[in-house]
Amino acid sequence: MGAHLGQHFLASEGYRKRILDALRLTGRETVLEIGPGRGELTALIAERAGRLIAVEIDPVLAARLREQFVENPRVEIVQADILRVPLDAWPAPVRAFGNLPYYITSPILLRLFENARRFDRIVVMVQQEVAERLSAQPGTRDYGLLTVTANFYTSVRMLFTIPPGAFQPRPKIFSAVVEMKIAPKELAGEKAFFRMAKEAFAQKRKTLMNNLKQSYGTDRVKAALGAVALKETARAEELSVEKMIELFLALGLP
Ligand code: SAM
Repeated sequence: MGAHLGQHFLASEGYRKRILDALRLTGRETVLEIGPGRGELTALIAERAGRLIAVEIDPVLAARLREQFVENPRVEIVQADILRVPLDAWPAPVRAFGNLPYYITSPILLRLFENARRFDRIVVMVQQEVAERLSAQPGTRDYGLLTVTANFYTSVRMLFTIPPGAFQPRPKIFSAVVEMKIAPKELAGEKAFFRMAKEAFAQKRKTLMNNLKQSYGTDRVKAALGAVALKETARAEELSVEKMIELFLALGLP
C-alpha cells in the first residue's frame, strides 16, 4: 500500500479549513468522501454534514477510520474501490468530495459526471494540470473532451491551488481545488453527443471536418457547419459546449 494508491495526505490545517468552506455545508447534507485516508478532513466534514459516507480502498486505513468514527452514527466507512461502488445507493442530492488519488483521477471524474444527477455539487482536489483542463476556456491549449464533459454536467470553477509542501509525502506537482455545481444540460441523445464529441477531439490538430467526415460524410459535415455558422476550418477546441450541442443537433445521427 502507499504510493501506488496515490496516498498524499493533506497535512496543512489552513488548507483543510479552506476546503471545508468550499463544501458549503449547512448540517443537512449527505456527503460522499472519496479516499478519506487518515481521516483528518473526514473529521471536519463529519462535524458539519448530516450524513457522511467515506469510501476508502486501503483496508488498513479503512479499519482505522472505522475505529475513529465508531461512536458517530452519521459516519459510514465503506472499504471499497470508488470505481465499483454503486453511486445511486443514497438518496439524492449527495455532495461529492475527494482529494482524489492521482492515478485514477479521470476515471473517477467521468464516473461522477455519468452520475451527475445524483449530486448537487462536486468539490475535488486534483493535480493543477487537471484543474486547468476542467476549467479551461474554449480556444485555449487546455480545452478538450474533459472540459466539454465537465461543462455539460456542471458549472466549473477552479478555487485555489495548493503547493506540494502542504502534503505528506510531498507530491512533485501543485494541486488545485475545483468546485463543480451540478447543472446538467438536458439533451435527448446524450450518449450519441459524447460519441460525436470524442470523434471531434480525436485528433486535436485536425479540423472538425477531418475528424467527423468518416462517420458523417463530407457533405453532411459541411452542411452542419454552415447551419451553425462555423467555418470549414473550425476545430473542436474552439467550440463551447453549447456550440458543440448545436453542431450535434445540426449533424443528426451518423
Ligand atoms: N483525504 C485524504 C487527505 O486529503 O489527506 C487522503 C487523500 S489521498 C490523495 C487519496 C486517498 O484515496 C488515499 O487514502 C487512498 O488510499 C485512497 N484511494 C486510492 N484509490 C482508491 C480507490 N480506487 N477507491 C477509494 N479510495 C482510494
